[in-house]
Amino acid sequence: MWKKLMLPSFTKKIPFSDPDIGDEEVDEVIDTLKSGWLTTGQKVSNFEIDFVNYLGGSVYAVAVNSATAGLHLGLEAVGVGPGDEVITTTHTFTATAEVIRYLGATPVFVDIDDKTFCIDPAKIEAAITKKTKAVIPVHFAGLSADMENILSMAKTHNFFVIEDAAHALPTTHQGKKIGTLDSDVAVFSFYANKTITTGEGGMLVTKNQKIANRARMMQIHGIDRQPFNRYKSETPAWYYQIMAPGFKYNMTDLAASIGIHQLKKVDFFAQKREKIASFYRKRFSRFPIILPPWPKNNDLHSWHLFVIQLSPNAPIDRDKFIEEMFAMGVSCSVHYIPLHHQTYWREAFNLSPKMFPNSEKIYQNCISLPIYNKMSTDDMEYVASSIESVLE
Ligand SMILES: *Cc1c(COP(=O)(O)O)cnc(C)c1O
Repeated sequence: MWKKLMLPSFTKKIPFSDPDIGDEEVDEVIDTLKSGWLTTGQKVSNFEIDFVNYLGGSVYAVAVNSATAGLHLGLEAVGVGPGDEVITTTHTFTATAEVIRYLGATPVFVDIDDKTFCIDPAKIEAAITKKTKAVIPVHFAGLSADMENILSMAKTHNFFVIEDAAHALPTTHQGKKIGTLDSDVAVFSFYANKTITTGEGGMLVTKNQKIANRARMMQIHGIDRQPFNRYKSETPAWYYQIMAPGFKYNMTDLAASIGIHQLKKVDFFAQKREKIASFYRKRFSRFPIILPPWPKNNDLHSWHLFVIQLSPNAPIDRDKFIEEMFAMGVSCSVHYIPLHHQTYWREAFNLSPKMFPNSEKIYQNCISLPIYNKMSTDDMEYVASSIESVLE
């Protein structure tokens, strides 16, 4: 308490993000802890069913312990391996690309479109070779990539589409929820700062039963049956077979206990984020700030991130802006330090900023502002007036 009192009285603390966990989540976790079954079981199964229903049915959902795991399983299930090329962008988190390397395939990086901050379909087209096996679009910040073009190219050129939907719950493309498009796999993240969370976790979604079955088996050591079914069995069920050298990517019932209740609130959360985004847009209209791209035609943006850029006429640069906002108690971030600035990717694939002019231009100037469900109107106003004073 004394520490708080020592802060100057005008200072408020606005974190960059803050998970929104209610008593329902807490009670469900306790129920699971007391149930005697902590790993993958009934709650995971319920969470998967709820997720399928949320997306409107006719998809398969496989809960995993991270979106990274889900992306790995998705690429594995469509057969990506050594000698294959997978096209993606550098304007993302390293997870999007590292999973390509897990399988010994080669990532081919292309630039983003400066109107959506998502992968540019024209750049994909230019990068297609005989070895192109898959494309991984990222729905950056929660705005859909140009899936119409990407999916039609996938048909013509015969490659798989694995959507990195880590930011995209709930996001729509031409009125359809991400997860229900005609891609091969979409993977959502429930990492602590995502739009819903299980602490750590993810969901692989596919319309293809073979992909779902493969992912489900590879997720648990390549075992030919699920441990919970063996546990529930009325007869001794000690026998199993290993069908492939699988992974250990299953979600626990503890995590699913959180997810079940987070999912019930996902639309409510989305409305709150939408409100914050609209507030920022209105409030910043006269600031030297470039607003993030807005969705077209009433499509949903999940607003996982609210990424602004400083205008050329802004009085300070990006780094100074973040520093001064921090001094005011407002935590900002940068999404992303593009992979062409990361040692491993730069060196292993000879990447340079010149190759990605749009990503580079955005990176140099961008700031991710706090956006989370629990933000009060006071909090939003505090962020806005802090920006006002920092930019004056
Ligand atoms: C968070 C994130 C991931 C990884 O999600 P995890 O659940 O932490 O593995 C992948 N891609 C993008 C774009 C992300 O933001």
